[in-house]
Amino acid sequence: MTKSAIANNTIISEEVDEPPSKNVNTHSTTDEEPPGKSFVHGNNSLYNHVPASDWNDWKWHFRNRITSIDDLAHLIPFSTEEIAQLKLVTAKYPISITPYYLSLIDLADRNDPVRKQAIPCIEEITMGILGMEDPLEEKRDSVVPGLVHRYPDRALMVLTDICPMFCRHCTRKREWHHGGWVRTNEQIEPMLDYLRKHTEVRDVIVSGGDPLTLSTERLESIISRIRQIAHIDIIRIGTRFPVVLPQRVDAELCDMLSKYGPIWLNTHFNHYREITPEAAQACDRLLRAGVPVNNQCVLMRGINDEVDIQKKLCQGLLKIKVRPYYLFQCDEVQGTEHLRTPVETGLKIIQGLRGHTSGLAVPHFVIDLPEGGGKVPLQPDYVLAKTGGEMIIRNYSGHIFRYRNPGAEQLEMKDIIAAAEAAPVKQPVKVGVRVGVKDAGRLSIRP
Ligand code: SF4
Repeated sequence: MTKSAIANNTIISEEVDEPPSKNVNTHSTTDEEPPGKSFVHGNNSLYNHVPASDWNDWKWHFRNRITSIDDLAHLIPFSTEEIAQLKLVTAKYPISITPYYLSLIDLADRNDPVRKQAIPCIEEITMGILGMEDPLEEKRDSVVPGLVHRYPDRALMVLTDICPMFCRHCTRKREWHHGGWVRTNEQIEPMLDYLRKHTEVRDVIVSGGDPLTLSTERLESIISRIRQIAHIDIIRIGTRFPVVLPQRVDAELCDMLSKYGPIWLNTHFNHYREITPEAAQACDRLLRAGVPVNNQCVLMRGINDEVDIQKKLCQGLLKIKVRPYYLFQCDEVQGTEHLRTPVETGLKIIQGLRGHTSGLAVPHFVIDLPEGGGKVPLQPDYVLAKTGGEMIIRNYSGHIFRYRNPGAEQLEMKDIIAAAEAAPVKQPVKVGVRVGVKDAGRLSIRP
């Protein structure tokens, strides 16, 4: 790592702390193939000239990230006006796109959901007045620089602000212009000290930026020290590498992680088009190393705000053995307003999934409340009414049922028998406009 400046208690690095990583052959071609042979990388031909040996090397992708509009314009055609607009946006919110992720874009479709996550648009500026810089107030809950302790038994370690890609919807886009830093050992030690003293913390989330930008060796030096703290049960890693640069999840990384379990990994697929053979292989490697993978998706306008898209995404994740964990309402972050949807959209999506596909494929829809209020799950209203001892509940298909609520009203058995005997069997009952069937004390009401 080259150190060139110190700011905000962090070391600014010009280049990522790259490890001597092994190449990962996630491609059907091999390094032995003759030079000059063209390969098919992704959904467009932008990188078909790149040999498999480079394509399978995550460091090559990292070095060749697109970080300027001029470089991007060499690959994707833009009008002069668009280039001017893009430069305006990136002066405030820079770009960084891995060749791998760029290769997934359908260049013929300007509304391509992959494109919209990577390539800036002018609305980031024109609607930039809406929202907040740091809606989750992470700075407020920092107990030592880089360590956020908000919830009773969990703490978040922010190791770097470097990401392989700058996702346009990022909650931390305020940090991008700081230039790229990685915490030094001198900064990590006070974080570990805090964790050692706070025995109530049993779950540590290692995050960023993206912590997998650190070399495997450096990551191991941190994870192994967390693992030495007896009261820490679980280590979680938050990373988007399996989606934007799956080549990073190589054998070296997985071997290292397998030594320090239980480690869980949360990643961030937003669209089924991101589930590629390379991404599937990365997740499979993690699972074989004993690292369960969960997905945290962000709901975004024009990207994944339809039931069918979410269903394909969640079902696709299950196929690669990744659990759809959260569907986040897009945070109120400046520069992301154009991507935000009404809360009702998320509720409609959950309603369209629940009961219509496996429960494993239904994520929790959550709002991360501003001012550090934390995550709150929301779901469609299935309970239509409640009385002392009964609930009126709607099921996934809209049928309505009465449900006796045992804790809410203590009925004597003799009262239950009397009620059952008094109820004419199979007699239609009218409730509002709906007609149901009464049967030995149970009433089901069909629309
Ligand atoms: S990987 Fe995560 S932290 Fe990095 S830019 Fe994307 S959303 Fe933000």
